[in-house]
Amino acid sequence: MEIDGKHYTMYEATQKQRAIERAMRAQKKKILVSEATGDPNLPQLQSRMQVLSQEYSRFSKAAGLRTQVERTQVAGVSCRRIQPSTSSMDYMGRPQNFIYKGPKNKEIITKAYAVDGHKGFFTQTNSKDAKNTIALIERERQVIPQLQTVDEIIIKKDLPGVASYERTTHRLYVHEKISNPEFIESDVANGYFVAENAEEALKHEIHHKEHHDLIDRKMLTSNKDRVTVKQEIEADLRAYVMRQKSSQPNYVFEVVSPNAAYKLIKDSSLNELIAEVLLQKDKGMVKDPFLLKKIEEMFNDAAND
Ligand SMILES: [Zn+2]
Repeated sequence: MEIDGKHYTMYEATQKQRAIERAMRAQKKKILVSEATGDPNLPQLQSRMQVLSQEYSRFSKAAGLRTQVERTQVAGVSCRRIQPSTSSMDYMGRPQNFIYKGPKNKEIITKAYAVDGHKGFFTQTNSKDAKNTIALIERERQVIPQLQTVDEIIIKKDLPGVASYERTTHRLYVHEKISNPEFIESDVANGYFVAENAEEALKHEIHHKEHHDLIDRKMLTSNKDRVTVKQEIEADLRAYVMRQKSSQPNYVFEVVSPNAAYKLIKDSSLNELIAEVLLQKDKGMVKDPFLLKKIEEMFNDAAND
């Protein structure tokens, strides 16, 4: 194929696409560090990221290649990407398709099997990890009562994160290896998240659910669209966070988590910050009590009017 007057084989085009992806990941890391240290070069780093990202879309399209986002993204929350694990053997129950909307409204189908004797549980594989994970979630349902309000829990053999709550369908997707200590060690317990183990990762997802449920309830009573409702509900909290950031650029990174800081820079979204601070509260390790107060006010105010 011919791109920008240069000839590429399919292999070469794929290699070039991978090279741009690596450059983007490196750039993302620089931005995180820059944000954390209050580096004045942050805007330049961000505009370089934008250029890379445009180049990436343009090149991928010209080469007819799917982008990484299209290849790997799952709708809903995806805190971080992880390598797919291996699946195994025989299944239990009856297969069922779960369809959710991915990027560009593309339908992504997960085939999973209802688990006998565990209502609301579905699994893609019958692996040891999957079985352990089902047992773990059953135990956690006693510790985290809100888990009982999730209608369907799908144990997935791969997922861009350890767990993911899908607000549009009210489903919780859980990586089948969440019960595997080695996996948790490598993916969660590295300081990127507030969560340090499987239980805390599940609590984090439940806090996303509480936040989304709040917005849904408010939409029903206000007759406004979701974006507006979300903006209104989060306005005071956002103002507070921005004030803190203006005097302390690495505020979110240090007071909440790199995960929360990254999501705020990337999508100017407070979703991770809210879930992370509520998890800090669970763990009794809130670093800024005023920040927690703002979040609790957001819940109380929205519930009261
Ligand atoms: Zn999250």
